[in-house]
Amino acid sequence: MPYASAKGRNRMQLILAISYIFLFVLGLVVGSFLNVCIYRIPKGISTCSGRSMCPACGSMIHGYDNIPLLSYLILRGRCRSCGARISPRYPLVELLTGGCFLLCGMTWGLSAETVIFCIFSAVLVTVAFIDLDTQEIPDRFHFIILGLGIAALFLVPQTGWVSRLIGAACVSIPMLVIALATDGFGLGDVKLMAVSGFLLGWKNIVFAALLGAVLAAACALTLIAMKKKTKKDKIAFGPYLAIALFVAALFGDAIIGAYLSLFSL
Ligand SMILES: [Zn+2]
Repeated sequence: MPYASAKGRNRMQLILAISYIFLFVLGLVVGSFLNVCIYRIPKGISTCSGRSMCPACGSMIHGYDNIPLLSYLILRGRCRSCGARISPRYPLVELLTGGCFLLCGMTWGLSAETVIFCIFSAVLVTVAFIDLDTQEIPDRFHFIILGLGIAALFLVPQTGWVSRLIGAACVSIPMLVIALATDGFGLGDVKLMAVSGFLLGWKNIVFAALLGAVLAAACALTLIAMKKKTKKDKIAFGPYLAIALFVAALFGDAIIGAYLSLFSL
């Protein structure tokens, strides 16, 4: 019956649309919490206790001024009490997390992968900004990704454990050698690639390492050309790795497949 199948299709599309909106809003809310983590974890402040306050005047931020994205727009990026500018980074982190969650949902639908990679992308957003601020990646994030990798062993069995074990070593060990020999990047980056390799498998982690290196080199050369940095400045490698890991997690299989098919003709 064409009528019934059209109706069924409409209902399916409605369910999908609602779950996409749900994931995006969930990402905004999670992003709001990530802002707290990015600000507090490097300072050693608890992320669970204590209300948020304005860094300029110290006044408590009320719940109604703490709605992700909306509050920033309504307050036009200023503190309600003192009028100090609120960094656009706060809504950016929220939007970024919302966008990552949405992309995960659109890629994997209602599945275990969506849950695992939403958590992975939230960790990557946090790691990228903490590394940008402090040039360090706290160990707790490596443990979270390791936990995701162990969960994926059972929930995403199409990437086998052999590929995961090779993935944990094939990028991180060469990086460790370079890190010890040249001080080029930190041990936090090495650990990030080890646990992410276990989560993503060897093909995607190799792809992520190549993409991260290209992104970092392109940005470093641009900044040097614009005279905003010199060759002696240290750059945080973490944000580039985070972007590359997210792209590899979502599109790695498709990109590698398309690349290999070029040679199999
Ligand atoms: Zn204020």
